Amino acid sequence: ELASRTRTFDGTGRTADGHRVALLANVGDPTGAAAAAAAGAEGVGLFRSEFCFLGREDPPGVDEQVVEYRRVLTEFPGRKVVVRTLDSGADKPLEFLSSPDEENPALGVRGLRTAERWPQLLEDQLEAIALAARAESADVWVMAPMVATVDEAQWFVERCAAHGLSQAGVMVEVPGAALLSGQILASAHFASIGTNDLAQYTMAADRLLGSLAELNDPWQPAVLRLVEATCRGGAQQNRPVGVCGEAASNPVLAAVLVGLGVSSLSMTARSLPDVAALLAAVTHDECRTLAQVALTAPSARSARDAVRERLPVLA
Ligand code: PEP
Ligand code: MG
Repeated sequence: ELASRTRTFDGTGRTADGHRVALLANVGDPTGAAAAAAAGAEGVGLFRSEFCFLGREDPPGVDEQVVEYRRVLTEFPGRKVVVRTLDSGADKPLEFLSSPDEENPALGVRGLRTAERWPQLLEDQLEAIALAARAESADVWVMAPMVATVDEAQWFVERCAAHGLSQAGVMVEVPGAALLSGQILASAHFASIGTNDLAQYTMAADRLLGSLAELNDPWQPAVLRLVEATCRGGAQQNRPVGVCGEAASNPVLAAVLVGLGVSSLSMTARSLPDVAALLAAVTHDECRTLAQVALTAPSARSARDAVRERLPVLA
């Protein structure tokens, strides 16, 4: 306990045998970006851009967005920052969007679906991201939330290219997208798995319902199979696949994800030292073995227990 509190991260994630795993931070605003940089994050794997849009009567203009995005990018000079375009819907309502009442907001007009209905919102945001990236000479990647189809991915990549944004990817958080990741990654340049939503949609268990937490668990073998499928699609197309859901901040699960083929992990900044320490204690091959153990377990609980049992560093 004391050891974990005093542990620090030296800024380069790797397994015991030197296999590189980029350890990135999830940030939600400029303050969070400063904290992530101070914690030694290699970059940002998920910049949630909603903070700019929430609680407003009108969407922010391009200039206003540029100012806010630059405040985040400036914390990571020359480092990778993955900006996620607006992920809002009936569960996180935006006052300036006339969202219809939806009985099942998690299954409604949210994520990239919002952009399909209000295309100017996406155009302005991509323009602001491109301008901020140029002003800060940052290594900016852009990704869309809640992509469900190959067509959506293609459309998003085209829109990004129109703004000179050459690294355009998708979040994989819908099982359909995980299953078609090979086709999606024929056009998208990378994928980042959102295990929070992927678990919710795979297990049909609302992520906001504490009483369903056991079902809504990234250790569920079905969820891990979809992570594996996504990595297989990435390998087919030679595109990187990362994880940016909460699963990445659990050190033991992080090793399993690396074993499934994930090449970067993005997490809350305070988890970086513990994840880095566990990965540094296992080889890439051991991660692959742990992944097989978890994949073939009959339940989330037995997957977690079986993997822990095999991890000598925890003994
Ligand atoms: C996820 O769904 O795992 C994710 C990272 O996105 P959010 O938590 O913002 O929905
Ligand atoms: Mg999500």
